Amino acid sequence: DKLRTPGAVRDAERWTAHNYHPLPVVISSAEGAWLTDVDGRRYLDCLAGYSALNFGHRHPQLIAAAHAQLDRLTLTSRAFIHDQFADFCRELAELCGKDLVLPMNTGAEAVETGIKVARKWGYQVKGVPAGQANIVVAEGNFHGRTTTIVSFSTDEDARADFGPYTPGFTVVPYGDLEALTAAIDENTVAVLLEPIQGEQGVVVPPEGYLPGVRQVCTERNVLFIADEIQSGLGRTGATFACDHEGVVPDMYLLGKALGGGIVPVSAVAANADVLGVLKPGQHGSTFGGNPLACAVAIEVVRLLATGEFQRRSAELGERLRAGLEGLVGKGLVGVRVRGLWAGLDIDPALMTGREACERLAARGVLAKDTHGSTIRLAPPLVITEDEIDLAVAQLAEVLAS
Ligand code: PLP
Repeated sequence: DKLRTPGAVRDAERWTAHNYHPLPVVISSAEGAWLTDVDGRRYLDCLAGYSALNFGHRHPQLIAAAHAQLDRLTLTSRAFIHDQFADFCRELAELCGKDLVLPMNTGAEAVETGIKVARKWGYQVKGVPAGQANIVVAEGNFHGRTTTIVSFSTDEDARADFGPYTPGFTVVPYGDLEALTAAIDENTVAVLLEPIQGEQGVVVPPEGYLPGVRQVCTERNVLFIADEIQSGLGRTGATFACDHEGVVPDMYLLGKALGGGIVPVSAVAANADVLGVLKPGQHGSTFGGNPLACAVAIEVVRLLATGEFQRRSAELGERLRAGLEGLVGKGLVGVRVRGLWAGLDIDPALMTGREACERLAARGVLAKDTHGSTIRLAPPLVITEDEIDLAVAQLAEVLAS
């Protein structure tokens, strides 16, 4: 029988801008932690849509909520209130321990919202002179793809030729509290950080860094904005990556898994003294907080409120860590693991991350390289112990081959 994959890969390349370099697999269905391609081959999903699929593909509770909502009401715009809106905002606010929620769609929109809120807070509450606000960010950051966000990226691919760049950002080395403290001045309105840098390769800052950032932000009257879009909602074995160090930021930026892998849902959660600076007409989104999004996201929040996924991630993450640490010196030169989230540095003399991912795909495991010889594993949190062992065993074979 003729395989359908090669033709489908060619068609996809023919008809789209080449802003991605996908692995040459063409997926047609999925369930839980498993994907099936157009030729009937099965793959263990070790990327989970960059953590958008923390609850696995087509989680029954989420799919049921989506189906039920599709049969009732899908969109009102924010010009009217719908019956899913308040429950979503309240339940997410409670999960975050914050007063208020502002729903958007994509992660980048949540980041843009955070930046706008911080600037307005800076002018109206902190008293920064007009047009002078600055935000401190970290080297190696990834916060999205808008023109403002790429303005403070340190990744040339993400940034080059997209100028003129938005001013008002100061970049400091990640994990260096002294540098961050020195960069804060009287016009600093916020520090914007990923508590763990995902796209950079699951880079975990030194212990004490996040509490230090929290403290200096409090002392200098600066908002601490935690971009938990990839790290949050169970991925690291806690609801938020900040939880591991007992840190509560002023603003959580959430996305990805919040939409249950079904719809794009993002949000900013903060207290009323911060989010309250926005008045009607000053910010919005046609699709942000739509009924379908809210109906799915309510169930996402309820799944998280049980604590089961955070627990699974923490427990299974230890198994993943043990497996991966066993490969250090056998093809891996570095491993960083937090819950079911791992950054692996392959010995660059062996192969690139891309080559490793291609070989893993041929063995039925899908993962994604980030930079050079680093790959990131982020399986759905519904993955089982046996499936983790399978992924580690296949990786061991790839590294040995
Ligand atoms: N922030 C972080 C930490 C991310 O990892 C991402 C996406 O990878 C984003 C923001 C942007 O999210 P989106 O692609 O939904 O705009």
